Amino acid sequence: MEFEFDLVVVGAGSGGLAAAKRAASYGAKVAIIEVNKIGGTCVIRGCVPKKLMVYAANNRKNMNSSEGYGLIAKEIAFNSNVLMNNVREEVSRLSALHANSLKKLNIKVFEGLGRFLNQNTLEVVCPKTKNILRKVSAKKVLISVGGKPKKLNIPGTELAWSSDDIFELKYFPKKLLIIGGGYIACEFASIFKNLGTEVTQLIRGKKLLNGFDEDLSDCLEKSMTSIGIDLKFKNQLKSIKKLNGDLESTLESGGKFLTNNILIATGREPALKRLNLDKVDLKMDGVYLQVNELNQTSNSNIFAIGDIIKKPNLTPVAIEQGRVFADNYFAERQRKVNYKNIPKAVFTIPEISTVGLSEEEAKEIHSKENIKIFKCSFTPMSNTFKKNKSKCMMKLVVNKKNDKILGCHMFGETASEIIQMVSVSLNVGITKKDFDTTMALHPTISEEFVTMYG
Ligand code: NDP
Repeated sequence: MEFEFDLVVVGAGSGGLAAAKRAASYGAKVAIIEVNKIGGTCVIRGCVPKKLMVYAANNRKNMNSSEGYGLIAKEIAFNSNVLMNNVREEVSRLSALHANSLKKLNIKVFEGLGRFLNQNTLEVVCPKTKNILRKVSAKKVLISVGGKPKKLNIPGTELAWSSDDIFELKYFPKKLLIIGGGYIACEFASIFKNLGTEVTQLIRGKKLLNGFDEDLSDCLEKSMTSIGIDLKFKNQLKSIKKLNGDLESTLESGGKFLTNNILIATGREPALKRLNLDKVDLKMDGVYLQVNELNQTSNSNIFAIGDIIKKPNLTPVAIEQGRVFADNYFAERQRKVNYKNIPKAVFTIPEISTVGLSEEEAKEIHSKENIKIFKCSFTPMSNTFKKNKSKCMMKLVVNKKNDKILGCHMFGETASEIIQMVSVSLNVGITKKDFDTTMALHPTISEEFVTMYG
């Protein structure tokens, strides 16, 4: 049977773009269907705009605390409208760059909603009118539609923002309530507080960032409290209602309070509903699409990558899945994604970064007596003359039996830059002795990782 394309990709986010471009570079005839701007969550309403906001918050924090360096600023005025316009402009520029590179590779872009008709054919639908714009057929279909914020099932939930809404803001609220203790909640609590908003964060458990090494959660908790973020643990939101132009929250514990806005950041879920998956009958793994290690779904013609499968929902993971898929099916390269030692970062100020096992995971997997912890906490030199002398924490989790480093964790400025490089060494099975016999680079923060004794 003749098909119009070799590959149709549904969703032009980081993973889908990577797969489409790699497949086209091998000579495949590729089409991509996207209902929003090209770029997906990471570029349009995630990592990229968020990190630009982190830079704004970090700059303001530094400007406000550099008197000891002789840099005496009068009150620093923050114009959120300028910041958010610049952020949106940059996002549009990046989206256009992606569109341009698709054009150069002769990848056909269809704007609209992709819906399955059968395993080789999709219709492209206008999201507003629901008109069918055209049909696209291909030998292989790659689903890379990403995720969307989860809503809380409580009265008034529609009054709250999700992270998507933040990037449309013109003015920042004076008072903000953030629900959740994960990546998005902590990052935005840090951004808004450092840019002058009064922030309260409601966390249902007793720690921030569940699943991270507990020393990291503790450091973050101390740091957030020290800058005035009001952390309310073991508490949940029961309902939201409008009150005189503001929002009144009622908590499970019974308390009520008033804020200008509420951000719900209680996780994300795969955005699969609009695909008409019943037409192709794919097996699920909970809310995720089931795939084998080659990202093939239960239908051998259809593949899935990114936030719709049960793997770490991170941009670099989706990109690598997309490239591996294209390498395997359009260049017969037989590659697999390496899921070991994926570095992670939470871009609070200061930031958290981590690779490998937490102390808690290592003790559970290798038993307590086989684990040795090396840890240090100090005031980084850059904070010497600052009022808020926030500390940096660095930690190595080592297997006593073979001296292998199992985990490396850091709370402090540039943690993500340092941990990215450490992750290379963990991937090749580095030992504590290798760290010890590496010469330090002085004066730096990262030298502490090669000078820890215990
Ligand atoms: P997370 O899974 O990180 O955190 C969700 C938070 O919401 C947790 O604190 C969770 O509590 C809480 N929660 C879940 N359900 C409820 C509920 N019903 N009521 C109250 N609290 C609830 O999700 P995020 O939304 O922060 O981020 C989604 C994903 O996006 C991340 O997992 C990550 O993969 C990705 N991401 C990555 C970033 C990065 O790399 N820097 C930045 C932003 C997002 P509990 O812990 O008790 O379950």
